[in-house]
Amino acid sequence: MSRLTTVGRVPSVPADRIAAPAPAPATGAAGCPKHMEYGPCGGVEFSGRCEVADHACAFLSLAPVRWRDAPSAASPASAMPADPTGHVEPPRAASRMRERVAAGGVVIADFPSRALDAESLAACVRALSGSVDAVLAGDSGTARVQFPPAYRAHLLSDAGVPAWMGVNARDRNRVALEGEAAALAHADAAGVHCVTGDHTGIGSRPDAAPVFDLDSTRLAAMMAARGHLVSVAEAPLSPPADARPARLLEKQRAGAEVCFVNHAGGPVAVRAFIERAQDLGVTMGFIPCVPVIVDRGSAELIRGFTSLALPDGYLAGVLEARDARAQGIAAASRLALEFLAIPGVVGVDLSGGPGAGRELEFAEAEAEIGAAVVSALRS
Ligand code: SF4
Repeated sequence: MSRLTTVGRVPSVPADRIAAPAPAPATGAAGCPKHMEYGPCGGVEFSGRCEVADHACAFLSLAPVRWRDAPSAASPASAMPADPTGHVEPPRAASRMRERVAAGGVVIADFPSRALDAESLAACVRALSGSVDAVLAGDSGTARVQFPPAYRAHLLSDAGVPAWMGVNARDRNRVALEGEAAALAHADAAGVHCVTGDHTGIGSRPDAAPVFDLDSTRLAAMMAARGHLVSVAEAPLSPPADARPARLLEKQRAGAEVCFVNHAGGPVAVRAFIERAQDLGVTMGFIPCVPVIVDRGSAELIRGFTSLALPDGYLAGVLEARDARAQGIAAASRLALEFLAIPGVVGVDLSGGPGAGRELEFAEAEAEIGAAVVSALRS
């Protein structure tokens, strides 16, 4: 996740172990392994290298692509006529979350439970319940196989915590994503975080064929059209950094209402990014990522994030402290409050993940940060 796109990225694998991609669509930048039309993705390396292959990102020298339309459901002449489909009501939780976002001071926590483990999920919900406004449950570089987003949303909502679900375009084509959108509404997801997703060459399942039938902007449009509260990610420091605010404007035009801001080094950089976006006409709410580092395992994990930039001394300050956990909680709480003082910021995302086997401890630390932030805001 941003981190926001994923939790726990791992190094890319040799090209001969990566499954062949699906055929490229007619649109998009030539040479983009993700077939993006509204690129670039957030994975562009600081050098400008593509996150997937040994060449420059195909969008580096292109102007941001202007939003044109939603993914077309128009059938080609050869298609069979479609049966009428049922009507799915927009999720009620999205309406409630819009009100929370409008009020400001929202605290969201990256959800740390173990993949495919309902008991771990329940334990982490118990730890976080009452201390945060929602959990953000998305992708993981080291655990690509997850319960489907809608099923996780169902489990989380049933357990009593609003579910802000990450959905990527790597693993499902548009037909599967439309089904996921309907299921997420039925599961009463509070928000849907739309990302293109890391390429399959990055992470634990390079044997899987990458799909990328849509990209984050087109996925955002499709989810917004179905009544979801849609968030997107933007990485202020990823090349071409100058074009990132304009690209965010196109995501807003597509229907995004909230932007999660990737780790960008601290409040000064985040404020500058937001001001540039607002100058261009971006009106959506911003939720910056707050790095949660409470031990060596969580430090290792966050080091793998795309385009990671932490405030000077942040990581060392935690790891070199006599009590790393206490220092990490205090540092994250302070930084969250600094972010929340920036005009346009409507909330913070407690961002990161646990070392292996430390899921519950990480959730408990996030809960302490959430409680500290809420307490400070009310005092
Ligand atoms: S960095 Fe991302 S957007 Fe750029 S060419 Fe590679 S996959 Fe495509």
